[in-house]
Amino acid sequence: MKEIVDSHVHVSLLPFEGWENMSLAGVRKVIGCSLFFGAKHAETLFDHFHQMLTLSMSIAAKNGIKLYVTIGIHPMGIPDDWTRVIDALPDYLKMSGIVGLGEIGLHEGNKREQEVLYEQLKIAKEYGAAVILHTPPENRIEITNKTIEIAAKVGIEPRKVIIDHANLDIIDLIEDFGAVPGLTIRQDGLTPQVLLNHLERFQRGVLNSDYSNLRPNDPLSVPKTVRYLELNRACPEIIERIARYNAEEVFGI
Ligand SMILES: [Zn+2]
Repeated sequence: MKEIVDSHVHVSLLPFEGWENMSLAGVRKVIGCSLFFGAKHAETLFDHFHQMLTLSMSIAAKNGIKLYVTIGIHPMGIPDDWTRVIDALPDYLKMSGIVGLGEIGLHEGNKREQEVLYEQLKIAKEYGAAVILHTPPENRIEITNKTIEIAAKVGIEPRKVIIDHANLDIIDLIEDFGAVPGLTIRQDGLTPQVLLNHLERFQRGVLNSDYSNLRPNDPLSVPKTVRYLELNRACPEIIERIARYNAEEVFGI
């Protein structure tokens, strides 16, 4: 399959060779997500957004990949002055190249994280922006339920919301809410084998690598998954949807 979209990549952490290999493997569009661990100041995030919009965008273009950027406050890097970031989000959402908010969401699920998520979802709703929501490795059901509760309280349109790192444990919660499942492929999460065995349940999803240097991650996990599904004769229409069209629709790209 050609024209693959990787819907969740922490592009500021991706080496040049990562871009090059993704391009060789057929990735043509990437959603670059915000994440700056331990950010203490609003300016740290503003510089991070700027770097994605300039340096990362030019490296992507050099490799024949179109980069689209999502911005926002990740729960693992909430600045002390986070309300200043909230105030700046509407102006960012008007910039070309920015297609939504992400990665945002709950990690531990504490009150502060909930407040930061709520304020960001309000902005996303107001501007009709797509959203990429994180789910953590621990307490997944409890935190996914809380995330959905906050999204429902804001009243954001579920089809504009990707709930990421979906797996068999939370796929029904995501489907019942009407959000789009983010399908992060990695060895300690959703594997190509599990995806193949339950493909119908994940068919509304969007494939991604969630590439970062936090844990073992493979920038080629999406094209490798596409090849695995093709070699195992999975439905070609579903492969195209999860590897391209579903993401193009959510982000309008
Ligand atoms: Zn991520």
